[in-house]
Amino acid sequence: MTEMESTEIKLSGISVSPGICIGKAYLVDNGGVDVVERYLIEPSEIKNEVKRFKSAVKRAKDELRAIIDNTPEDFRRQSRILETQEVLLKDKMLYGRTIETIEKESINAEWALKSVVTGIKSIFQNMTDPYLKDREADVVHLSGRIMRNLMGADQVNISKIDKRVILVAPDLSPADTSQINLERIKGFVTEKGGKASHTGIIARTLQIPAVLGLENATSLIHNDDIIIIDGKSGHVIINPADETLIEYEERKEDYDKRKAIINRKGRLPAETIDGFSIGVLGNMELPGEVVSVHSAGGEGVGLYRTEFEFMNRERFPSEEELFDSYSDVVSVMAPMPVTIRTLDINGDKALGPGFATDEINPALGLRGIRYCLRRPDVFKTQLRAILRASTFGKVKIMFPMVSTYTEVIESKKILTEVADSLEKENVSFDRDVKIGVLIEVPSAVIMADLLASEVDFFSVGTNDLIQYSFAIDRGNKDVLYLFQPLDPAVLRMLKHLAEVAKGRGINISVCGEMASYPIHVPILLGIGMDELSMNPQSIPAVKNMIRSIKMDDTRRFMQTALKQTSATNVYKLLLETYGHLLPDKFDIINNDE
Ligand code: PEP
Ligand code: MG
Repeated sequence: MTEMESTEIKLSGISVSPGICIGKAYLVDNGGVDVVERYLIEPSEIKNEVKRFKSAVKRAKDELRAIIDNTPEDFRRQSRILETQEVLLKDKMLYGRTIETIEKESINAEWALKSVVTGIKSIFQNMTDPYLKDREADVVHLSGRIMRNLMGADQVNISKIDKRVILVAPDLSPADTSQINLERIKGFVTEKGGKASHTGIIARTLQIPAVLGLENATSLIHNDDIIIIDGKSGHVIINPADETLIEYEERKEDYDKRKAIINRKGRLPAETIDGFSIGVLGNMELPGEVVSVHSAGGEGVGLYRTEFEFMNRERFPSEEELFDSYSDVVSVMAPMPVTIRTLDINGDKALGPGFATDEINPALGLRGIRYCLRRPDVFKTQLRAILRASTFGKVKIMFPMVSTYTEVIESKKILTEVADSLEKENVSFDRDVKIGVLIEVPSAVIMADLLASEVDFFSVGTNDLIQYSFAIDRGNKDVLYLFQPLDPAVLRMLKHLAEVAKGRGINISVCGEMASYPIHVPILLGIGMDELSMNPQSIPAVKNMIRSIKMDDTRRFMQTALKQTSATNVYKLLLETYGHLLPDKFDIINNDE
């Protein structure tokens, strides 16, 4: 029997993490359920199939109740969303129609549920009312829960995938992505998400090729299709022809070789030709990643995103658990510094199934320091763990999402209370821990002089600073064109911050993704940044760029750059002046791609 030859298809998405991978596709439905199959049921088995559906619904009901009952007082408001879903379980539209479909069409419960939900979604599609839109999301989440029970899958099963595959999903949350097992997952493709989304950031940290924002990926790619991901160009090739496969195998080999050469240079000092030293540090999300920062040549951790240890779990970690993680990280890095950012949950980093927020606009909601000031118990537990870990090396503390001077005062007050109580308990900690603010909200830029009088350092979170300054969702691919780190508005803000920091004698760094592109280095040095912190895989290339330029030239270059009217012009100017120093452009994801 001759098999039909499948045709090669080349698609384009958003490049977020460089590298090439070739492998079999593994489709993951939202929430980690394998893609649903359709099969017919014998008439004698229909009763049992309905029973199977009913018990999946019953389990969903029990799970929802358990989550609602275990939700702490403060989150009660958010558990209302689950109560709505509980009511929906009795709803004829979802429950009744699925049973009807199993019986009438003699098909399996998974397929019946899927087709009923598709029908419901199309009814909602033409509605603009936000309340009804939320109900659509409820139906989708709830049906996902029932589906997982039907298929015997866990809530999120990415960590359990036991084959070497490339994930293809409608969307992967930062919590899903942080569970990726590097030995199994070669790369991933999603339909949603943008360059500065946390999903993209994690892909770069894990150093796996990824393409996001590839519309219809889950309908165009099938389970077990051979696919190629080119993370630098954003291309995904389905069912590649033999010659394409050979071409990409060669490109992959070439890429890996050149990367190894650059990586070997990662340990060299980050000093400009005219003798200026710049701190090059690494960003990390989970304790184990400290090793990547160290081996890439990072001179410390410039941003430890601690919220990832709070995700994918049913209760908050205890002080002891946090202390164990922090002291490990601090010890590995010692004597180099570890900047621990206090919890930055909510926004796009929801805690987990039981803590889903019902905020209409989470990015502008109770996230970061706002959340911690609302929950001093959670905040104090974390601060105690951080201070206790400070005896193992050099710790710095950084507060995220600060938008007012008062927030800094209140945060410091709580920190002092925690320090006092540790002192009373005779627990040792470093009394000279440096305190900083993550500048990522425009109001903090404007108030920089006042904030500087209260802290030891600034770190600029350009990912959020751009999101909030340009009013664009950092994960939304439709407004990605506005996400331009080289926009004159961004450069002016950075310049202002650097001037304030210099004037007040405090240290300033950039820890947003902007810092991870070698082509941005002349700009950031010319502006006056003392340190740059980035995903570990970018460290060697950024250090390489620093070693190839003169600080004096970058300062002059900035004079011209600041006169430009658009990001495109600044970028052109950069390429003209510094483009020849880029390492064959192989590891760069440019602004204009
Ligand atoms: C930023 O916003 O630039 C930042 C460093 O924080 P995060 O990406 O975790 O929001
Ligand atoms: Mg941020």
